[in-house]
Amino acid sequence: MTATLMLASVCTTASARSSYDEQFVSYPVYSGDDLELTVSPEGTAFRLWSPKAEAARVNIYNHGKGGKPVEVFNMEFHPDNGTWTASTPEQLYGKYYTFQILHNGKWLDETPGIWAKAVGINGKRAAIIDLSATNPEGWKDDKGPKVDNFTDVILYEMHHRDLSMHPSSGVSNKGKFLALTEEGTISPDSLATGIDHLKELGITHVHILPSYDYNSIDEENLQFNNYNWGYDPLNYNVPEGSYSTNPSDPATRIREMKEMIKTLHDNGIGVVMDVVYNHTADNDNSNFELTAPGYFHRHRDDGSYSDASGCGNETASDLQQMQDFIVNSVKYWAQEYHIDGFRFDLMAIHDIETMNRVAAELKEINPSIFVYGEGWTAGDSPLPVEQRALKENVAKMSGIAVFSDDLRDAVKGHYTDASDRGFATGKPGLEETVKIGIVAATAHPQVDYSKGNNSRFAYASSPEMIVNYVSCHDDLSLTDKLKKSMAGLPEKDMLEAAKLAQTIVFTSQGTPFIFAGEEIWRDKKGVHNSYKSPDTVNAIDWRNKEVYADQFAYYQGLTELRRNHPAFRLTTADEIARHLVFDEIDSEKTPNLISYSLKDNAGGDSWKEIKVVFNGASEPQEVKIAKGKWMIVARDGKISPAEGLGQFKGGKITLAPYSALILAKEK
Ligand code: CA
Repeated sequence: MTATLMLASVCTTASARSSYDEQFVSYPVYSGDDLELTVSPEGTAFRLWSPKAEAARVNIYNHGKGGKPVEVFNMEFHPDNGTWTASTPEQLYGKYYTFQILHNGKWLDETPGIWAKAVGINGKRAAIIDLSATNPEGWKDDKGPKVDNFTDVILYEMHHRDLSMHPSSGVSNKGKFLALTEEGTISPDSLATGIDHLKELGITHVHILPSYDYNSIDEENLQFNNYNWGYDPLNYNVPEGSYSTNPSDPATRIREMKEMIKTLHDNGIGVVMDVVYNHTADNDNSNFELTAPGYFHRHRDDGSYSDASGCGNETASDLQQMQDFIVNSVKYWAQEYHIDGFRFDLMAIHDIETMNRVAAELKEINPSIFVYGEGWTAGDSPLPVEQRALKENVAKMSGIAVFSDDLRDAVKGHYTDASDRGFATGKPGLEETVKIGIVAATAHPQVDYSKGNNSRFAYASSPEMIVNYVSCHDDLSLTDKLKKSMAGLPEKDMLEAAKLAQTIVFTSQGTPFIFAGEEIWRDKKGVHNSYKSPDTVNAIDWRNKEVYADQFAYYQGLTELRRNHPAFRLTTADEIARHLVFDEIDSEKTPNLISYSLKDNAGGDSWKEIKVVFNGASEPQEVKIAKGKWMIVARDGKISPAEGLGQFKGGKITLAPYSALILAKEK
């Protein structure tokens, strides 16, 4: 669902919001923090923002599903701020509620509103619970890892089911939030799985696929074991029910998600949540439409839904009440759930001003919160290109990073063509685009952006604006991509190409990101858009950890290298331009070869100079290294950052096909 289309450069420039959407600009807005539900010693108060409703009411229920309302409160309108209120001196804990508005003379369907913080089964009714009772023991002191620079983060993108559903996971709470609370789980070969595996691997943050309440899984029929990525938002401020052990009890999903976060934090791992404010699962029946019809979505001039998400609609962050919703929603997750970062799906559907507010207000809560997103849309939008939170506009944003599709497509081959190869698999002509990734898309005297495949200018002004990766949940996994593009070659070559590809990711400036399981050669059975494929396609087979132990050890070496060497985690564009020096190589004569040095204790590194060489060719290639007392850190598919693989005095050295060479010297 998160289309990786790159339409930014081909979109026609829209001039302004559509004539239809102009009507919403004059709506009164409400910025108070008591929207929809407040329970206090004085009782229960409701406040719904719906400026054009002709009437509004609250229905109170005893259950999350079925039965008639036990009470109905008619609401009173406040034209100055567009809200409707009702209250009762009773604290209605344990009850459920829905709102309903009269629109064009007709009562619309019931909605839990857009600010439900707890819901009954399938998110149809909001629940009134005491949130403080959902906090696990020690929650008050719970904290995620402190992050000084976002280039220090190592991201691991995972879906709850992928990690634990396979019988070999050894996890009891398969597919649940609680899976990551289980320590000591092992594979049939007695190797660590689950959270212990994450610790062994050495990542700093898990990036969980959408975990708010989404629409596609019937929480009443979990025995069918349906799978979905979750890019179909329903209730933005409530955890998804199917990841809890009891979706019909509103408190359980909240408590269990907090327990997961607490266990990860206790183990030094941060939690990034994938958020999808750019569209809703339904159009007319979305909670936005049932709350304030028309307002929260963008439209074309004729009033039809515009569709920059490719999912049927797009939201309108350029309108004040929607911008407030996004900002306050992420702040709620940061405060109530201690979330350490947010990955914005199709971020360019949102405007730059909204994203800047998101980052600024989150950093006031916790400066370690990392905000990044997909700097593109999946279709055209009425939002003018210059206002979009696009990759190309990242330098206009503050404290926000974007995914580098430059590095991704150049290293492994284009995502739209399974058979296309990349720099790491022997395709010539991509050297300059890989170099754009190496310098985190910052201006560098030796990088010629006019030769870039995706972007033609240095769009980032800091490495903290770039997330580097070669694969994610979208499209073919790295394993499948290599199996398809290197078909006919021995698996050994594919494994070496995977190591090379990820070495490029981990040594490049910016923040590295890997897709869960690739460290043990996880595939998705060749399915690229596996958003609703069964677990047999998506689940990680943990027996791979024994079979591909060499692969796992190499990935461990990559995280160790990066964690211990700030030269790979420089924090300014200026440092990169000064310390990172490419060796002159004629790519016409010797394609698929890149060599550079990180000089003069870059970033305060203990190593005075680091030499990094990549050979993406199918043949060995030779390079000449300056004389010196070098330690071999990585060579021919092996890596040993601390001990080294041996010494080297300089001179000629040969790199195996699809391999990286890393040398370091202290003086
Ligand atoms: Ca749901």
